[in-house]
Amino acid sequence: MAARLARIRWGTAPAAARRGPLVSCRRWAGASSDTVYDVVVSGGGLVGAAMACALGYDIHFCDKKILLLEAGPKKVLAKLPETYSNRVSSISPGSATLLSSFGAWDHICNMRYRAFRRMQVWDACSEALIMFDKDNLDDMGCIVENNVIMHALTKQLEAVSDRVTVLYKSKAVSYTWPYPFSMADSSPWVHITLGDGSILQTKLLIGADGHNSGVRQAAGIQNVSWNYDQSAVVATLHLSEATENNVAWQRFLPSGPIALLPWSDANHTDFIDSAGSMLQYAVAFLKPTKISARQLPPSVARVDAKSRILFPLGLGHAAEYVRPRLALIGDAAHRVHPLAGQGANMGFGDISSLLHHLRTAAFNGKDLGSMSHLTAYETDRQRHNTALLAATDLLKRLYSTSAAPLVLLRTWGLQATNAVSPLKEQIMAFASK
Ligand SMILES: Cc1cc2nc3c(=O)[nH]c(=O)nc-3n(C[C@H](O)[C@H](O)[C@H](O)COP(=O)(O)OP(=O)(O)OC[C@H]3O[C@@H](n4cnc5c(N)ncnc54)[C@H](O)[C@@H]3O)c2cc1C
Repeated sequence: MAARLARIRWGTAPAAARRGPLVSCRRWAGASSDTVYDVVVSGGGLVGAAMACALGYDIHFCDKKILLLEAGPKKVLAKLPETYSNRVSSISPGSATLLSSFGAWDHICNMRYRAFRRMQVWDACSEALIMFDKDNLDDMGCIVENNVIMHALTKQLEAVSDRVTVLYKSKAVSYTWPYPFSMADSSPWVHITLGDGSILQTKLLIGADGHNSGVRQAAGIQNVSWNYDQSAVVATLHLSEATENNVAWQRFLPSGPIALLPWSDANHTDFIDSAGSMLQYAVAFLKPTKISARQLPPSVARVDAKSRILFPLGLGHAAEYVRPRLALIGDAAHRVHPLAGQGANMGFGDISSLLHHLRTAAFNGKDLGSMSHLTAYETDRQRHNTALLAATDLLKRLYSTSAAPLVLLRTWGLQATNAVSPLKEQIMAFASK
């Protein structure tokens, strides 16, 4: 595993750089309604927990009071389960670098992940295909179980509990804003009421509470959204043949894409035991379509029946990511179809950007809740996220039809993209952020 990590070259910040001189820091443990927090992160899923870690391990925030609120229980694994979880994410090198910067990636490497080096995408209605691969030995990304990432983040939050207070089973039920949002940059603070009636105050509220974000709704931020007539079915598959198992496969069927993501090592003696992880984003409830009989490489021996689970899919995008004393990150700001495996990666990208701008504000002694740097974050991320959302939505629609002109159009598009190496490299660079 260690050898594999060395090859990934996604960079781990030295421990000293991550935490800085702890002796100069003040300690803030426990939550109190009298305390005015500098930052409260509402929602401790993958993105919110990573945001709290990133703040907790950054020297620029060592004298700040940081709180993470999570409605659910603490999620740590007593031990790594033998069976693979069906909730996995494809983690880009950029996201792995972020997770490394506060030590969470080390936990993941010590637990379980699978790197992939090639990706083949092809069309069920034609012979067109595109192959992404790295000529050098770098990996394109890693498949990691969500509960392993969550465990890693929770462990890192425990290790930085002198800087970040975490309240589990604590649901925020309402938010009160200091002034009408038009009167920017005024104090006092955002007030947060929890389910037990207690009230907290913060100078900056970061909404990381998922695609039905209560923070976004309470702030009255418009959200452009629609549901796809699709759900994702995810399951763990057992392959019928030995493979190197480092390729991610995705095939576009008229009913929706089907993806095979590599999971276990290829070195098992019993090759039937080689496991795969499948995402089939394509249960068109209203118009079920026959899945193409053409066989996917590699072939599948069986599906873990118990591992199957279904997620309704949709798109969402907040018209604004920031308001005075408020920033949205992760699915609270954008919800994307998982065909490109980018939802969590976009959220981790939000963290890197927001952290960068908050760090500058903290360094210059500025108010963290001020619009001057929050808008810089919004501009950065909307530019990136809207492009990805639009491209993903277009792909979903373009591949949902078997109409001949559109099949021809996408066949040419796929073939041309496959033939033009610089274009493919641009796509890979964008997706690896
Ligand atoms: C089938 C499928 C496959 C996917 N595959 C990939 C992939 O390969 N790669 C990838 O990058 N992304 C993938 N995604 C997307 C990814 O899972 C999401 O983008 C990501 O999990 C969003 O994380 P989040 O923390 O923003 O939101 P969430 O995971 O929704 O977390 C929100 C958290 O906020 C908490 N919360 C909510 N309300 C409150 C409240 N009032 N008070 C306190 N806490 C609250 C919730 O308990 C929850 O823990 C996939 C998604 C699906 C459905």
